[in-house]
Amino acid sequence: MKFALINGNKVEATKGAKGLCSHCDAELIAKCGEVKVNHWAHKGKRNCDPWWENETDWHRSWKGKFPIAWQEVTQFDDSGEKHIADVKTQSGWVLEFQHSFLNPEERRARNAFYPKLVWVVDGLRRKTDNKQFQEMLELWGPPLRDEPDIINVFCPDGYRLLKEWNDSNALVFFDFQEETDKEKSMFWFLYPRISSSEDYLLRFSRAEFIELHNNNNFDSLVEKKISSFLEKLINKKQIEDEREASRHWARHRERLSRDDWLRFGRRRL
Ligand SMILES: [Zn+2]
Repeated sequence: MKFALINGNKVEATKGAKGLCSHCDAELIAKCGEVKVNHWAHKGKRNCDPWWENETDWHRSWKGKFPIAWQEVTQFDDSGEKHIADVKTQSGWVLEFQHSFLNPEERRARNAFYPKLVWVVDGLRRKTDNKQFQEMLELWGPPLRDEPDIINVFCPDGYRLLKEWNDSNALVFFDFQEETDKEKSMFWFLYPRISSSEDYLLRFSRAEFIELHNNNNFDSLVEKKISSFLEKLINKKQIEDEREASRHWARHRERLSRDDWLRFGRRRL
């Protein structure tokens, strides 16, 4: 973990330091080595939260964009189950920074546990993800005519990153941005899936994402860019479904009248 409590304050790990876990009250020891980022570890056991993932520089850099009070916050549900949110904003959004592969079961459990959850997924962990993502954008761009930031893509087979996340009912952002490459907008939002075959991606800015949360303004983005577009998709899907249903009904009627005619013909004979 990034923080331990020392005299009630959230403190980062320094060599030789000891503190308490804010989640389970156990004693924590500072680990400051060459390989992993400086962190606090529980004495002789694994982290007290089974959902905890060892942190990378990528995690730390993300968390560090938000106030310390918002980082590593213990959350309870009605049954008393508790977990540590990477970041919880003042407006109640929980941000989870996901670097490694997460099995679908745990992903769904976390989606259910946090009512307002945003995933930020590290798109640079597997080299193939970034390459495939760029290929897909080239293949399926240009953006929608009336929504210039949005691209409609059909996820090709074998494209793991999108496949792993496109059934999520929480909000998902992909982060492909190298720390040094601030110019490129390599931060994308994946719309929750409405249709079974197509996905929609919103080109977004990492800096704006951070700013919106820090100013407690993320809800306005959700309203303007996410909910309103999803509504459009749902309406479109409804119209398509109705069309399909009426086509189905027309076929059914055709068949009925043919059967009727056959019956009628048979009677006549
Ligand atoms: Zn603990």
